[in-house]
Amino acid sequence: MVKDFIKGIIYSQFDEKAGPRALIWIPPDLPEKVQDLISLKTINILAGENGVIPESLAVVPFPSIKLKGLVKYMEIKDPIRRGKAIDSSITLLFDEVDDLIFYKYIKNFEDLCSKTVKEIVKLEEKKAHRKQVQDEINKFQLNVQSILNELQEEEVSVQESAAFAEVSGEGADLADYEYKLIVCGDPHVGKTSTILRFTDNAFRRTYIPTLGVNLSKKQIRYKDLNVKFVLWDIAGQSKFQTMRRPFYKGADGQLLVFDLTDLESFENITNWYKDIKTNLKGELRGLIIGNKNDLVDQRKVEEENIKKLSQKLDLEFFEISALTGENINEVFYKLAELIYERKNEKPSKKKVETKSAKKMKKSVKKTAPKKKESTTRN
Ligand code: GDP
Ligand code: MG
Repeated sequence: MVKDFIKGIIYSQFDEKAGPRALIWIPPDLPEKVQDLISLKTINILAGENGVIPESLAVVPFPSIKLKGLVKYMEIKDPIRRGKAIDSSITLLFDEVDDLIFYKYIKNFEDLCSKTVKEIVKLEEKKAHRKQVQDEINKFQLNVQSILNELQEEEVSVQESAAFAEVSGEGADLADYEYKLIVCGDPHVGKTSTILRFTDNAFRRTYIPTLGVNLSKKQIRYKDLNVKFVLWDIAGQSKFQTMRRPFYKGADGQLLVFDLTDLESFENITNWYKDIKTNLKGELRGLIIGNKNDLVDQRKVEEENIKKLSQKLDLEFFEISALTGENINEVFYKLAELIYERKNEKPSKKKVETKSAKKMKKSVKKTAPKKKESTTRN
């Protein structure tokens, strides 16, 4: 069964008397409050673009309703209007926890959105009946759903063939170690984008609704070992002190992410750090990450200040770009190194026993005399 990722579709226009308003919406019982919010926000963004219609699709967040939208703008010519055109938008709503699907596959929706918008503009300009526009939007919904189904099937089947290769490849890819990584930082700094860059999993993940967290996995080679990361991504607008203890529990590593173009997100790193300390006993290895270093002109955080913080918290820092991929692999390799080397300074190794490892152990037990293992308490 494929999950229904579409939470709604709204077609909005700017009305000279009433302002931005929804004309058509799916589902029929979509609350008026939501219709108004989406119309206002999308059409206002459009007005802010100096009258230039953004060509591409945009992902717009609606944090107050925990949704995001894929927004396509259109301009309907109308000689009677002051600007001789009506600003309009069509918004595809989805849960913010699913945003990575739309980040990853945005290009797959571009053609469909352009086609739909073209049809609607044509209908509106010849003053066709609203029912015809509604039909076009219904068709759009079905097409989006079928694209999503295809993409999901494709991604999952790639995963299955990869898993098969692991088994047939002499068990080479079974994990020797598994580490839990928590990815912290203010909303919008690029946590999800960073994880997506590293793992490439949009559908292949687990959502924990009680915590509002997405888990994804990725295995890398570190020295001659297979290290598996389980990445815990805050899927929403959570701030420090609203994250719950189970989010932190058992973490081996942390990424403290801020946005180089957003000073407040940098200042909040200390708060995230403190929050982790309060909720998690024991030492945690990790890094400070300054994301969006591709946005050179908009940079607000000085390297000097990051260095100071890095010394204060005793955490190394990396500047990355989830957009270009710069330094992404380096960050995770460094984490593997930090966590592995620390854990192996101590006698309490955290070795993950995969099924085959357990089997091997059993057969060893049968044949070899049992060595007395010394146990050490932490
Ligand atoms: P999260 O809320 O921390 O998970 O942040 P997201 O991953 O959802 O990213 C928030 C916004 O920043 C999205 O519009 C991303 O496309 C954008 N973004 C994320 N990483 C980068 C980056 O490295 N460079 C640029 N230019 N934009 C980015
Ligand atoms: Mg996110």
